[in-house]
Amino acid sequence: MKRLGLTETASCQCGAEEQTPFHIMQNCLNLEEARQTYWPTETSFKDKLWGSKEDLRRTVQFAAASRLHV
Ligand SMILES: [Zn+2]
Repeated sequence: MKRLGLTETASCQCGAEEQTPFHIMQNCLNLEEARQTYWPTETSFKDKLWGSKEDLRRTVQFAAASRLHV
């Protein structure tokens, strides 16, 4: 894992214990900027995954952007 450049644990680079989808989308400090860009208003985790077509479009864009930071 380490040789492949992957982290040893599932903890997040921001220091959180678990890098879960919920954490990435709602809590991760490292992704705060990207989150503000795609969701300037508070959006629930549920809406991000099962919301309108517009919500889902933002989720896809956020996922693409966050991969650059993670
Ligand atoms: Zn994090």
